[in-house]
Amino acid sequence: MAERPYIVGNWKMNGTRAMLSEARAIDRAAQRYMKVEVALAPPATLIHAVHREAEQIGIGAQDCHPGEAGAHTGDVSAAMIADAGAKFVILGHSERRQGHGESDALIADKVQSAIAAGLRVILCCGENAETRDAGKAEEFVLGQLRAALPKIEDAGDRLTVAYEPIWAIGTGRAAKPSDIEAMHGAIRELLDEMYGEAESAKIRILYGGSVDSKNAPTILAVPEVGGALVGGASLTAEKFLGIVVGGSETVEA
Ligand code: PEP
Repeated sequence: MAERPYIVGNWKMNGTRAMLSEARAIDRAAQRYMKVEVALAPPATLIHAVHREAEQIGIGAQDCHPGEAGAHTGDVSAAMIADAGAKFVILGHSERRQGHGESDALIADKVQSAIAAGLRVILCCGENAETRDAGKAEEFVLGQLRAALPKIEDAGDRLTVAYEPIWAIGTGRAAKPSDIEAMHGAIRELLDEMYGEAESAKIRILYGGSVDSKNAPTILAVPEVGGALVGGASLTAEKFLGIVVGGSETVEA
């Protein structure tokens, strides 16, 4: 476990201004759990409002366009989300890869553009059930990462990786700790190889996929798990804070 676990809520396409009270409650409570780094990625429409309310938690976006500006109806650039108050962006989520046909090459461009705009990046990777059943999960995930991780000097300050097996997202079926450990170990080896051990050690590898307050303490105690990316259970302060408390308990006193 990294010294300070990073617990990130991804609200996906959920939330109107009525949900600002949940963000406020998460922010206030996070001030009591300083051993944990708490962050929220609300939909783009709420980034600025949540940013204005938040004193403790980090605010991020769920995607950005790779370009700087121009004729891209409906898109937002990295600089725009940074201007709205985002400090990080989630890129390569499987719902964008599947629902929007995002390729590794496009994700690599988005990563470059986010870093150029001064954002930290949470780069998602993860295999589907077929690939896991075929024994090819590791090869697949490392391929996704090799294709999108940027060649930069200060990777440790810029990057977080989130391993999210697709079959575990929103299903209530989290991956087994032994499988998480094996995959995170393989990802760590890749990061060591790409960035050197010192820089790699600063990059947290989050697990995502049906994390809740019950399984969080077990998952967060798995070697090389530096935190969690949380979907469904981040939508209410009550559920999300249960995970934050679990993270706080796994940090050595
Ligand atoms: C996610 O989509 O990033 C995710 C982990 O979702 P859930 O926690 O709902 O499985």
